[in-house]
Amino acid sequence: MACDFDLLVIGGGSGGIAAARRAAGHGARVGLAEAGRLGGTCTNRGCVPKKLMVYAAQFSDQLAIAANYGWRLGERQFNWPTLISAIDLEVQRLNGVYQDLLDKSGVEILPHYARFVDGHRVTVGDATVTAAKILLATGGKPIRPDNIPGIEHAITSDDIFHLPQQPQRLVIIGGGYIGSEFASIFNGLGTEVIQIIQDDKVLSGFDDELRSEIHQAMQRRGIKIVAQSETIAIAPAESGLTVTVTTQQGQETIFSGVVSLAATGRSPNVEGMGLEKVGVAVEEGAIAVDAQYRTSVPHIFAIGDVINRVSLTPVAIREARLFADTEFGQKTNILDYDAIPTAVFTTPEMSTVGLTEAKAAKTFGKDDIQTYCSRFQPLYHSLSDRETQSLIKLVVQKTTDRVLGAHMVGDHAAEIVQGVAIAVTMGATKADFDATLAIHPTTAEEFIGLG
Ligand code: FAD
Repeated sequence: MACDFDLLVIGGGSGGIAAARRAAGHGARVGLAEAGRLGGTCTNRGCVPKKLMVYAAQFSDQLAIAANYGWRLGERQFNWPTLISAIDLEVQRLNGVYQDLLDKSGVEILPHYARFVDGHRVTVGDATVTAAKILLATGGKPIRPDNIPGIEHAITSDDIFHLPQQPQRLVIIGGGYIGSEFASIFNGLGTEVIQIIQDDKVLSGFDDELRSEIHQAMQRRGIKIVAQSETIAIAPAESGLTVTVTTQQGQETIFSGVVSLAATGRSPNVEGMGLEKVGVAVEEGAIAVDAQYRTSVPHIFAIGDVINRVSLTPVAIREARLFADTEFGQKTNILDYDAIPTAVFTTPEMSTVGLTEAKAAKTFGKDDIQTYCSRFQPLYHSLSDRETQSLIKLVVQKTTDRVLGAHMVGDHAAEIVQGVAIAVTMGATKADFDATLAIHPTTAEEFIGLG
């Protein structure tokens, strides 16, 4: 059957755009359906606007420390609408950049929601198009737990970028990376923040020592973290909302906030497209795929957040390119999901690559693991009044001397660990780290010669 496209990509986010461009580069005729704005979650309501907010929040510390460095500053005031309009403009610029890139690659953009008619036919808006292969890159969405009465009054991370005013008090439900990042952002911007988490500390899944470091630092900065607690109800009140929380001991406390943010996880976008009509299997809420991102239907593929392996932009992009190279470039490679570097843009920042101490001990046995740690005051903060510690940790396999994991809490952790990640991905040993000359005086030099 002659099709309109060799490949139809459904979803124009990080993964979909990367796949469309790479496949077109291999000579495929590609269509891309996107129901919203090009760039998807990362550009429009994720990484990019969030990181710009992180930068905005960091000025409060920088301005405070500037005085210790001899600067005399005038009255300081933060203006929320100015920040929000500046971010909106930048996001619009990026939407245009994606449009240009796709146009230049020869990808046909179909700016509508896509639904399957049958295995090779898809309606996109009013049109029906046919494709030999179809890639699902439909991403994910925030979840509002349905067991909390009044949860509809809470906003999600999608809404927080469009609040008309900065909240005076924000109650965040959730201790994952999105909740913790927004706790730090709003704390830095001067909002009073209460964060309700189920676990004993924020950021479960990350290295325990780093979690403790961040948890304590966030509390020292004035974020009220209510640990080992469940939110049981949200209700409108005169000055915003009340959030009722119960502790493990059954004690109930009511917190009031102007806004409540449900940062309670995300789920893949698998509904509404007619997947059941074509027999694409969904397991535990995500599209099931094999190592080459093939679904249960041989000519339909899926990548990115919708497969829920590791929901990060660079992972979606890599999966997308591997898919396109395999299907249209006759080159097959497989992604190593163990060596994915990542960052949490809390204050202080955390970044990590490879295995945590706990995961390494589980994989190789506790006796084969050696950890090296350094906790120190960075030079930049030696002139500040605030207690600010950085933490660097290496997890090493004793028998091979291989560095299995590198972890850091502190300023610029993400920028530093990105470099370290190259060494860890290449299989560097502790001896390789120590043979490297330091750049002095830096924070990153602490990765070398840890004893
Ligand atoms: P998406 O980017 O979500 O794109 C999916 C697209 O599909 C959407 O544009 C949607 O409109 C479209 N779509 C869905 N269904 C259809 C349909 N049927 N027809 C047409 N179009 C459809 N990752 C990082 O690496 N670093 C970070 O710092 C980071 N911060 C984040 C902060 C927040 C608040 C959030 C929510 C996420 C963050 N992420 C971060 C995660 C990152 O945004 C995602 O992993 C990434 O966007 C996934 O890309 P994707 O292509 O799989 O899906």
